[in-house]
Amino acid sequence: MTDLNGKNREAPVQGLSWSTHYLLTRIALQTCSDSSLDNAIPVTPLEDFLSRSHNALRDPIRWYWGLLERKGGPTASVHAGPGAITTQQDFLTALRLNPEVSIPYVRCITPEEAPPDAPYDPSRSGPPHGSYQETAEGEAVKVSEIVSVFSDEPDWGMDQDLFRAESYGYGPIPFGTPTGHSSQACFHMAFLHEPPLLTAVLPRLKKSFLEERVRVFLALAGVAFDERADYWGWRFTAWAIHYLQDVTQPYHARALPFPLWRILLRLLAHPVPKRFAEKNGNVLMNRHYLFEALVHLIFNTAVKRRDDHAFMTALKMAGESYRGPLAAVIDRASAIAATRALRVNALLELILNDPRINRSDYVASNDPSYPLAEKLAQVSADQPAMVREFVELVAECLAQAGMVSRYVVERTGTAPRRPDSKGLSTR
Ligand SMILES: [Zn+2]
Repeated sequence: MTDLNGKNREAPVQGLSWSTHYLLTRIALQTCSDSSLDNAIPVTPLEDFLSRSHNALRDPIRWYWGLLERKGGPTASVHAGPGAITTQQDFLTALRLNPEVSIPYVRCITPEEAPPDAPYDPSRSGPPHGSYQETAEGEAVKVSEIVSVFSDEPDWGMDQDLFRAESYGYGPIPFGTPTGHSSQACFHMAFLHEPPLLTAVLPRLKKSFLEERVRVFLALAGVAFDERADYWGWRFTAWAIHYLQDVTQPYHARALPFPLWRILLRLLAHPVPKRFAEKNGNVLMNRHYLFEALVHLIFNTAVKRRDDHAFMTALKMAGESYRGPLAAVIDRASAIAATRALRVNALLELILNDPRINRSDYVASNDPSYPLAEKLAQVSADQPAMVREFVELVAECLAQAGMVSRYVVERTGTAPRRPDSKGLSTR
């Protein structure tokens, strides 16, 4: 018997897990009313979309640069507008994305295709790792799968190392590190519900490009559908979904998910912002990383066991969705994550029960032997109510993730085409 990787199943079964964004989108779209999700469409190269639409891209890109200028400060390029956009490199540069990133053409092995006894794979890297298979040009892929797979793509490097390029116009980096994974933080996080005292002391926390990312990818999706480049229309739709899902995650919606007294003690200990960031960066990143790893583990285990877990029910939410302007949707969807963040963090600390996460020199993401599954099993046996409360709170956030995912797909089908003068997309 061979598995989907063509390997003999008598050999040790390979680890297999899906990215959390893939699972979120896939499950959320099961209750989406848009019937085009069931269609199968051919894979087409980016260059094909560019050759059809490079003139139609000029206005949305100039409008997008104007949006960035409002936050990052003036750049000369806004008024000149983009030059010819014919290659992947032109495209990534015009979109102010990492020009070194690759644009893979892949599909995911679906949960239905995977053996339920496949061992858990803690890797959360994009292709070629994990459960991806390459797709050929012209190969037919179901729209719901395109949207699900590529809703993870903004985490594959396109938003990293962008503050090195001054011409991109993002201005000084507000938080995170200048290079590497956490250099993408201000594109994937938005702290809209912080205590005013905190943003008064650390005003840079208010700077985020998350909404601009959603807007530009919705506008690009509109151009692609107009030009009959449907594969790219749905792939850009998936990118827009990513950012909206991110902001429903407690550690993406709340900068310091601690009671105010704990924040004040830390601020008093390190009142200089640079020193404060040095002393607290890993403390926050350890929690953020281990939270996502824990949700990833619970999710993947449930999918493999074919469990009708509370996460699935929350994501489907009987097909409920948002209506209305994007900014209001971001505000409302992130409010749930922001208000649950303190309790989620307190529960995570109790579940992990690990003083190392408080150390500024300990980096959990560099520790592949972190015993997360063992800890979860132990706490589930000893204190099931604690795990239950954690799951319930995360499920409330996932309900928002499901709603914003359907909001984007339903909006793509009915609204955005060209940016208007207010920077909102209209048909
Ligand atoms: Zn992200």
